[in-house]
Amino acid sequence: MKDSIVKELENLIGEDWVIDDERLMEDYLSDETPSPVRPEADRDVILVKPKNSQEISEILKYANRKSISVVPRGAGTGLCGAAVPVQSSIILSMERLNDLIEVDEDNFTMTCQAGVTLEDILERVRESETLFFPPHPGDEGAQVGGLVVENAGGARAVKYGVLRNYVRGMEVVLPTGEITSLGGKVIKNNTGLDLMHLLIGSEGTLGIVSRVTLRLYPEPQASVSLIVPFEGRHEAIGTVPQILKQGMIPLAMEYMERDLVEKSAEHIGKKWPVREGDAYLYLVLTGQDKDSLYSKCERINETCDSRGSQDVLVAERRKDEEKILDIRSNIYTALEPESADILDVTVPITEIGRLLDEIDSIAEEHDLDIPVYGHAGDGNLHPHIRLKDGRKPSNMERIKDEIYEKTIDLGGVITGEHGIGKTRVKNLPQALDDHQISLMKKIKKVFDPNNILNPKTVVDIDED
Ligand SMILES: Cc1cc2nc3c(=O)[nH]c(=O)nc-3n(C[C@H](O)[C@H](O)[C@H](O)COP(=O)(O)OP(=O)(O)OC[C@H]3O[C@@H](n4cnc5c(N)ncnc54)[C@H](O)[C@@H]3O)c2cc1C
Repeated sequence: MKDSIVKELENLIGEDWVIDDERLMEDYLSDETPSPVRPEADRDVILVKPKNSQEISEILKYANRKSISVVPRGAGTGLCGAAVPVQSSIILSMERLNDLIEVDEDNFTMTCQAGVTLEDILERVRESETLFFPPHPGDEGAQVGGLVVENAGGARAVKYGVLRNYVRGMEVVLPTGEITSLGGKVIKNNTGLDLMHLLIGSEGTLGIVSRVTLRLYPEPQASVSLIVPFEGRHEAIGTVPQILKQGMIPLAMEYMERDLVEKSAEHIGKKWPVREGDAYLYLVLTGQDKDSLYSKCERINETCDSRGSQDVLVAERRKDEEKILDIRSNIYTALEPESADILDVTVPITEIGRLLDEIDSIAEEHDLDIPVYGHAGDGNLHPHIRLKDGRKPSNMERIKDEIYEKTIDLGGVITGEHGIGKTRVKNLPQALDDHQISLMKKIKKVFDPNNILNPKTVVDIDED
């Protein structure tokens, strides 16, 4: 049976691009979800590497005829098992769709195939010296298709928003194989129901994104990073709305504690540059000239000072700014080997301090360690549930439920950026009411009547 499927797929896209040797597929069976919670992959899979939307369309039409699941695969940096095949499947890798098609400087857009990486995009805008792509979800290896369907966020979402805010247009191959274009380069578009925004954040369940047009911004002429130390978390977190209320919207505004930044710095062979304080706000400010940026820094300094901050570290040279960003970005990688799971709960910014306290109480009650850091400017926090004696805590699901419950009580959501994927499908009823889940399932059935595209992700329509 498998041999005949391989043959048919080879006829569609060429034999070099259909792989069924298990040894060559190992890297495609998992993602970056911490191993204690990562779904187990079904190894009865065939890997295909189409080169364009036409070939993707042929594969999907064939998969519908034969009722075979298809799991789209970007770079595999996802954190909720969304790209892991959990039943016999065709894994459809987007790696060959890696053409950066066009940078349109006058319309401030970039159009690329979905397999182009964030690193490629950042390099291309850097080369232009006039353009800027602000968002920075932590792993630059992620592909634009993966970033869009995960509606990725990251540290630099405070000023311009998450990935959704950058998508102007896309080409999609629908689960039944039709190819369609949504949006374009336009800024305004009210033409009917917004299918493009339904596809954004759909986690590979409603269509395969093959091409994306992204919005760009003018390159800021000046940038400065500040680290503001405080004695305690409530002084630090309480300062966030005060800064924003003054009309100063930083590109990034992060919250971190001393033990975590020191651990991360050590992990990458660097030294955390601040001696004072245990709780930090890390801000990145950008603007079109240095003088106005300095005056913003002064006002921020005054606001922080009035709330008990200590000496602010100002980093202006690109090298120094990159060092701080590097230490911040690597908190995740430093903690990952000791983590049983990593959450991305999100609350209104005024509730961050309260959620941090609640998580501390939950950790204490279960005799666990749950370090937390995150995006203070948008309320998105990352609690890492640590392994206990080297193993996943036995009551892990209960601990997560308790954290989710407190988050929801504070007006928050269970995921602000990593998505539902496969690991959180069971948590959806805690976060959404029956009407919402039922509508999502109906939408899935409309797009994908045979349920072939990434089943058991976001919603599980098999369970009905
Ligand atoms: C160190 C590290 C830091 C991270 N930091 C952040 C962060 O700050 N913010 C954040 O939001 N995320 C972060 N992530 C998570 C991850 O990078 C994002 O979720 C990213 O969007 C995944 O992209 P990917 O190409 O790796 O997709 P994959 O993991 O390969 O796939 C993710 C989902 O998208 C689907 N998919 C992939 N490509 C397509 C396509 N072209 N069409 C349709 N479906 C597709 C897959 O089927 C799967 O369901 C981080 C991950 C790591 C490892």
